[in-house]
Amino acid sequence: MSRIAYVNGRYLPLPAAQVRVEDRGFQFGDGVYEVVYLHRGRLIDEDKHLNRLDRSLGELRIPWPLSSKALAGIIRELVARNRLHANGLVYIQVTRGAARRDHVFPTAATRPTLVVTARAVAAFPRDVDAWATAIITGPDQRWDRCDIKTVNLLPNVLAKQAAREAGAFETAMVDRDGMVTECASSNLWIVDQAGQLRTRPLGQAILPGCTRAALLELLAEERVTLSETAFSLEELRHAREVFLTSATNFVRPVIRVDGTPVEDGKVGAITRRLFAAFARHVQGALSNVT
Ligand code: PLP
Repeated sequence: MSRIAYVNGRYLPLPAAQVRVEDRGFQFGDGVYEVVYLHRGRLIDEDKHLNRLDRSLGELRIPWPLSSKALAGIIRELVARNRLHANGLVYIQVTRGAARRDHVFPTAATRPTLVVTARAVAAFPRDVDAWATAIITGPDQRWDRCDIKTVNLLPNVLAKQAAREAGAFETAMVDRDGMVTECASSNLWIVDQAGQLRTRPLGQAILPGCTRAALLELLAEERVTLSETAFSLEELRHAREVFLTSATNFVRPVIRVDGTPVEDGKVGAITRRLFAAFARHVQGALSNVT
């Protein structure tokens, strides 16, 4: 069975799903996106993702192509048409639409382009130790509005490729002041030398991760206190524990940074607890597809 995509009102087999060459997403990267994880057919943190989509669109003054309720319905229909009863991800992209190429915004009559795709992915990891990974570090080469989830991902693409070529999974990006922002497609957390859990505060330097937000809500139950303070590259290198978060990587332990083991190279106690708490959050998700 071919995968089915949604494009501007139509459900089409993936090879037939197309946008116009003058689409501003293609020409300028003038668009935004979301990735939502699907666990046993249920969308995880759907409201958080739709709220962030709303914020990204608002910041770029791209109108909603339809209501968020209608979008939620399309997502469910697409999940059903792709027979995604187990684990998957849903990709949503909205661009400013197709218009004769010109940097300035097109006329108000231009309809935004809406594309939604979905695909199966591996099941939620059972073994936190096997889920642990390695990262490298590199300069943050992005613009000043990293809080907007735009499809302009070139620095992220280059950072992720550098990680791949170094045999690692992610790149922790470092700003001009030597402070870590986040990874190419995930937020980064450490337990510092004093035993304090830390992650960079929200602002224009990082994406407000939905997994980050969901984990914040779980911390109180876990009786883990968080300090939302930026940490330096040096602090990352000397951290007791490191982990990253994203919709498709959940809580993922990091046991090597630039080839050097984090502490003893094993998954730390706080990371282990938060992985388990997030696993319960995913397994108990209330948002239902049906
Ligand atoms: N930071 C960046 C740059 C990202 O691209 C992503 C996700 O793709 C995240 C953080 C994590 O966000 P979320 O938890 O919403 O997936």
